[in-house]
Amino acid sequence: MNEATKAPKISFYDYIVVGGGAAGIPLATTLSENYSVLLLERGGSPYDNPDVTHAANFGNYFFDSSPTSPAELFMSEDGVGNARPRVLGGGTSINAGLYTRDCDKFHKEAKLTDEKLVNASYEFVENVMVFEPDVGEWQSAWKDSLVDAGLTPDNGFTYDYLPGTKVAGITVDKQGQRHTPAD
Ligand SMILES: Cc1cc2nc3c(=O)[nH]c(=O)nc-3n(C[C@H](O)[C@H](O)[C@H](O)COP(=O)(O)OP(=O)(O)OC[C@H]3O[C@@H](n4cnc5c(N)ncnc54)[C@H](O)[C@@H]3O)c2cc1C
Repeated sequence: MNEATKAPKISFYDYIVVGGGAAGIPLATTLSENYSVLLLERGGSPYDNPDVTHAANFGNYFFDSSPTSPAELFMSEDGVGNARPRVLGGGTSINAGLYTRDCDKFHKEAKLTDEKLVNASYEFVENVMVFEPDVGEWQSAWKDSLVDAGLTPDNGFTYDYLPGTKVAGITVDKQGQRHTPAD
């Protein structure tokens, strides 16, 4: 990571990727295997901010409107309040960390026809940045109430996209450390 203001006045790249979020970072990383790539991110580093790195601080940044905040609050055109990221790692640096695999319908719509590659990609992500959460009392009661209300079967812990109720993955490790595409 380098400050863009300190970059040389003229430089050349095969590709310039704008936005270091969940989409931009993997794209830039993959391209950089064969090409020279510049990744431009308007926000700061996620690593020196405990509000980003520690999930226990989730949401603090929604009240931080300073220029160095990792989040920017905004109002949608329909008048709905929301937050968007401005930090390397993008929305994954400020989001709730829920992870699940997608459904076959989405794979078809997105034309992800290479099932082997899709599954290998899920497995890669699950190995490097997704964890099984500790299910606390509140979460457990919430899950049981969904099952009681008829959202069955209870699938237990799984990354798979299934009808019913389940415990999904989380991008926070057992030490409470958040993992993002920036890692
Ligand atoms: C509060 C919240 C909770 C969420 N919870 C979940 C969840 O639990 N599970 C889940 O799967 N998803 C969740 N999401 C959604 C998920 O985080 C986003 O869909 C995802 O991170 C989007 O990734 P992206 O790369 O498309 O965009 P972004 O992550 O938005 O990345 C875009 C990046 O581009 C940068 N940028 C913008 N303009 C410029 C510019 N002109 N020049 C340079 N850089 C620029 C931004 O600073 C940002 O870092 C949540 C989102 C929010 C806001």
